[in-house]
Amino acid sequence: MSDRSVLRLDGVAKSFGTVDVLSDISVSIPAGELVAVIGPNGSGKTTLLRAIVGDLRPTGGSISYTGPDTNRPIGYLPQRPTFRSGFTAAETLAFYSALVDGAAPEILLERVGLEAAAGRNVENLSGGMRQLLGIAQAIVGDPPLVILDEPASGLDPNMSEYVFETAAEIASEDRTVLLSSHDLTLVEETADRVVVLHQGRVAASGTLETLSSRFGTDSLRGVLNAIVGDTARVSVLGGEQ
Ligand code: ADP
Repeated sequence: MSDRSVLRLDGVAKSFGTVDVLSDISVSIPAGELVAVIGPNGSGKTTLLRAIVGDLRPTGGSISYTGPDTNRPIGYLPQRPTFRSGFTAAETLAFYSALVDGAAPEILLERVGLEAAAGRNVENLSGGMRQLLGIAQAIVGDPPLVILDEPASGLDPNMSEYVFETAAEIASEDRTVLLSSHDLTLVEETADRVVVLHQGRVAASGTLETLSSRFGTDSLRGVLNAIVGDTARVSVLGGEQ
């Protein structure tokens, strides 16, 4: 594990009216890793990622970016990326890249394997290509932290695998990827570290190895079942171990 962090959350809470969606989230995200947030539907994954990118204001606690000083610290792929219609994939990236003095569209497209779609209008891209264009948009300006909300959602297994491979390639010594996913197999194959959310709280977090030994199972499915199936145990465990 790296001793540098790129993001620290301390007691983060988010309520919508009287509904507490996130409570007491305290985690530190190490630099240079691929970190996955998993948890059942409604456990707060999207809300957490939106709070991190500043799309939602937490009702409590603090979120600090602790990575290198740069023009664009955090890149973001929202759950349903939207692009302005009438523009090609390359034009779309050129627009964002010009805002932050980023790389040429061709380079960004190549990094996600979309070179062949450079001249294609965004409305004619497949679901998988849209996700890849969204990832290319998220890495414009070379942000040290890239947040991907369900990057493989709605894609066929081959495309999901490709999107995860791309995410893993983006994570490097200097770049951290924090993503949410339901695909526990792909998370097992690619993530260095996993944060498990349950009912808006961090039920457990750590490497697959530490989670497996803690919960006496060899799979993330087993970890999740142990957490979700036994709520009394979750409240006892809480927080990062
Ligand atoms: P996940 O991504 O894990 O499925 P979400 O973060 O999307 O979970 O949602 C967590 C909970 O917060 C859900 O119960 C959802 O209905 C609620 N929620 C999310 N956004 C809002 C909102 N803007 N207003 C009210 N409730 C919301």
